[in-house]
Amino acid sequence: MKTTTQILVIGGGPAGSTTATLLAREGFDVTLMEKEVFPRYHIGESLLPSCLEILDLIDARDIIEKYGFVRKEGGFFAWGSERWGLDFTKLRHPYSFQVVRSEFDHLLLEHAKSQGVKVYEGTEIRKFTFDGDRPKSASWAQLDGDKKTGEITFDFLVDATGRAGIMAMRYLKNRHYHESFQNVAIWGYWQGASSMAFAPSGAIAVGSVPDGWLWGIPLHNGTMSVGLVLHRTTFKEKRQQGHTAEQIYMDAINECPLIGDLLTSATLISEPVSYTHLRAHE
Ligand SMILES: Cc1cc2nc3c(=O)[nH]c(=O)nc-3n(C[C@H](O)[C@H](O)[C@H](O)COP(=O)(O)OP(=O)(O)OC[C@H]3O[C@@H](n4cnc5c(N)ncnc54)[C@H](O)[C@@H]3O)c2cc1C
Repeated sequence: MKTTTQILVIGGGPAGSTTATLLAREGFDVTLMEKEVFPRYHIGESLLPSCLEILDLIDARDIIEKYGFVRKEGGFFAWGSERWGLDFTKLRHPYSFQVVRSEFDHLLLEHAKSQGVKVYEGTEIRKFTFDGDRPKSASWAQLDGDKKTGEITFDFLVDATGRAGIMAMRYLKNRHYHESFQNVAIWGYWQGASSMAFAPSGAIAVGSVPDGWLWGIPLHNGTMSVGLVLHRTTFKEKRQQGHTAEQIYMDAINECPLIGDLLTSATLISEPVSYTHLRAHE
């Protein structure tokens, strides 16, 4: 294991692997540590067209294009009594992708390796030591195998740990949540969902329900990711009334004609997962 590096990137999701690739391509000595061994599950499957520009910048566009993800040419929205399509094909970047994140993130991390980033998977950053208010070294621990531990010094640190936000949460304590985004999401995967013949090819379906909204994302493995987003207060109230997360999820699907119709002949093949942005503070 390296004991010193110019730039330490923590986290091998899209932010970490992209930043690390860009820096390595500029000639910096970059080390990336990721606690999971990829491929690993992640939510966040429907990409925006602006991602194409980033993929071009890191020279990974071809890899993603050839992989076979669903090409997303827009969205279709059913919000209250209004329905409209969103067509990306007229934009500067005319499409994007619906990705299985375990596969997408793995491709980007492998690309980072090919561009000169030294990547350690299964390696968690546990804490930092500081020189004044500047972090200068990190303690790491391997989570599997011989469970080695060690220390690495660096000139610059990139914290790309996503929701964990090790620097922001543990040291700077400066992560704030916007009131509008204090939501809970509940999602699952469906086999046999219909496609929207009336919408742009590969579109995301977005439908409102009285308490929030639902997404429907067609994936290249033949499943559809379907998720409900609702305010955490509403979620708490429903839980206090005795509803399970799965009931709240299924009730919302039944209340949403756009998503409900897509799932008429489909089967839920995963346990619905629920997620709250505020779990870390509760
Ligand atoms: C319910 C939901 C739906 C979403 N839907 C979409 C969507 O449709 N489209 C979209 O663009 N975005 C979506 N997002 C947002 C998207 O998931 C995130 O923006 C994206 O994953 C952020 O990428 P990242 O690289 O910053 O973090 P992540 O992808 O979370 O990567 C962080 C990595 O850091 C690693 N890590 C954490 N702590 C440590 C540590 N101490 N040491 C080493 N490694 C560590 C983790 O294992 C992880 O692999 C959604 C988010 C949620 C919650």
